[in-house]
Amino acid sequence: MEAEVEEARVGDGLRSLRIDPVDAEGESGVMDAGNGDEGEEEEEGEEEEDEEDEEDEDEDEESVTTLGFLEDPENSETLLRHFFPSKAGGVPAWLDPVNLPSEQSRKCGFCGEPLQFLLQVYAPISEEEATFHRTLYVFMCSSMKCLLQDQHEQWKRRVDNPSRSVKVFRCQLPRSNPFYSSEPPLYDGSDKPSGAGAPLCCWCGTWKGDKLCSSCRRARYCSERHQTLHWRSGHKSDCRQSISSQTSDSMLNCKKEELAETHKFACRTLWPEYEIINEDECVQDEKMTVDNGSNLSLVAKSDDTSKAFQSWFDKFEVNDDKKSWASFQERIANAPEQVLRYSRDVRAKPLWPLSAGRPSKADIPKCNYCGGPLCYEFQILPQLLYYFGVKNDPDSLDWATISVFTCMASCEAGIGYKEEFAWVQLSTPSASI
Ligand SMILES: [Zn+2]
Ligand SMILES: [Zn+2]
Ligand SMILES: [Zn+2]
Ligand SMILES: [Zn+2]
Repeated sequence: MEAEVEEARVGDGLRSLRIDPVDAEGESGVMDAGNGDEGEEEEEGEEEEDEEDEEDEDEDEESVTTLGFLEDPENSETLLRHFFPSKAGGVPAWLDPVNLPSEQSRKCGFCGEPLQFLLQVYAPISEEEATFHRTLYVFMCSSMKCLLQDQHEQWKRRVDNPSRSVKVFRCQLPRSNPFYSSEPPLYDGSDKPSGAGAPLCCWCGTWKGDKLCSSCRRARYCSERHQTLHWRSGHKSDCRQSISSQTSDSMLNCKKEELAETHKFACRTLWPEYEIINEDECVQDEKMTVDNGSNLSLVAKSDDTSKAFQSWFDKFEVNDDKKSWASFQERIANAPEQVLRYSRDVRAKPLWPLSAGRPSKADIPKCNYCGGPLCYEFQILPQLLYYFGVKNDPDSLDWATISVFTCMASCEAGIGYKEEFAWVQLSTPSASI
């Protein structure tokens, strides 16, 4: 019964976007329904895991990791919130479209600017009713200066209320909720959310627009900063026009809805929008020489892109610890275009590119809400910056990895967006601020 519901809920289009939790037995459950090749690969993975179940921490534990790759969305409609997307760049698809993060939590802890949307991962835990839908969101300040400061603050205990420029939010909903049908999307053009969302900032399209332009009383903003930017970039004249041309109430309402639901916004500095497609990682046996290249061909699109990534990686090779770097690189090389590595297996650990700047167990705080342990859930790789077109300058945004730790119990806490924990490893950990 449970399985049927799951099947029914996840339409064909959605299945490829979904990143499902890997449960304690190491069954992934999502990719089974895909093509046969992947199924075989997964079974091999499971056998390995069974043998390695009792291993202690120091040894290489193999749990199935789901990799995330970016693709241009075929139809950006499918990245709207009622399709429960995993996506990077653009604006977030808020799962709970009403109870959005507070003004304080949406700002960079250093410069005070509203944070920019990096990516979101749809990662339901379908065994639990409360997490029938579950999405994790990552935001960050686009300033490298702030990220360097963040790197220092992240070592502080949470009780000291460290400032962060990278923030993670978890949102979850039961199957029966005010915002969406309890039935899966039909993908026939008729899908709609069942409730309207909160109006969003008309500059960034990202955060709740809880401030109004005092002249036209129509334009909404998340912050004074975005109001100023919008004013300078043209709202100054639009604002007067909209006051003089008395539009009817019905038209105003229509526009408001449009703003909330189709993410029309003015700013042009958001990162480009991509769909995140997932695939289970194929870990090759290092002792075997694989020369048919069948695994690689799934992801290595051309020599040119491989070279581009190689040069991207070479940039990081400045640390003394070549060993950590080499094993990271070797693992990533199986699928060099991966931007995300996901595993909710309790044994899963991030793949650290560098040995310096890794957190110890004590550096990972407890859950803000239930006080329970956080566990590693996914990590973001620097390839994402390549897709975002971030330049390779000294001042440009740059990281080695961002690892996300979430409440193991995925607790409820009674608020829409719960802050989880990100650990940032920079490619030059010794850099001073
Ligand atoms: Zn900042
Ligand atoms: Zn804004
Ligand atoms: Zn105005
Ligand atoms: Zn918790």
